Amino acid sequence: MKLIMLGAPGAGKGTQAKMIAEKYSIPHVSTGDIFRANIKNGTELGIEAKKYMDQGQLVPDELTVKILLDRVAQEDCKNGYVLDGFPRTIPQAEVLDNALTELGDKVDFAINVDVPDENIIGRMGGRRACVKCGATYHVVYNAPKTEGVCDACGDKLILRADDEPETVKKRLNVYHEQTQPLIEYYGNKGILKEVDGTVDMKDVFAAICDILG
Ligand code: AMP
Repeated sequence: MKLIMLGAPGAGKGTQAKMIAEKYSIPHVSTGDIFRANIKNGTELGIEAKKYMDQGQLVPDELTVKILLDRVAQEDCKNGYVLDGFPRTIPQAEVLDNALTELGDKVDFAINVDVPDENIIGRMGGRRACVKCGATYHVVYNAPKTEGVCDACGDKLILRADDEPETVKKRLNVYHEQTQPLIEYYGNKGILKEVDGTVDMKDVFAAICDILG
């Protein structure tokens, strides 16, 4: 099963993608996580990507597409994957489609987690991410057991630079301009599924599971 999660930054698509990955035993592939791991390790890709990420801009397609195609070519992706944060532009979607078509393959569903902008701004300020393993929490909706500490690995939780309120506004603009057109793109392909992302995350997950069967 090959899935794409669509939705504004902060819509909760990462949380849902992780739950889907666990239930269906497929890897969760997040381009944001790959970039953050590269930033942490001080790689050339990380240094380049950070310039854009800290500004709330998209990393250029040339950099992003290559790391994604390399990742999904790995052995653990052979039975499928759930993409979180990719594609974010129409050209990225086209590259993925062409790569899959060459393999005689295709994306099964694109799931749009729908949340209005008003809700997003409030949510993102409460977001916390683990500096070490990338796990994400929310101080109200998905709090860690101990404040400021990652449940998964015990490291420190922070508000990411790209979750700061001014950056969030920029990211929402970028989302509407560059990423939202993908809803129509996948709608035209007949694989778009919409879920209401404003309800409790367990109910969002239940709605997704109904779609996936
Ligand atoms: P995320 O964790 O998915 O919210 O991604 C964090 C940041 O990484 C984004 O705001 C972008 O700067 C960058 N990024 C992640 N995925 C992509 C992508 N597919 N295309 C371009 N930039 C991306």
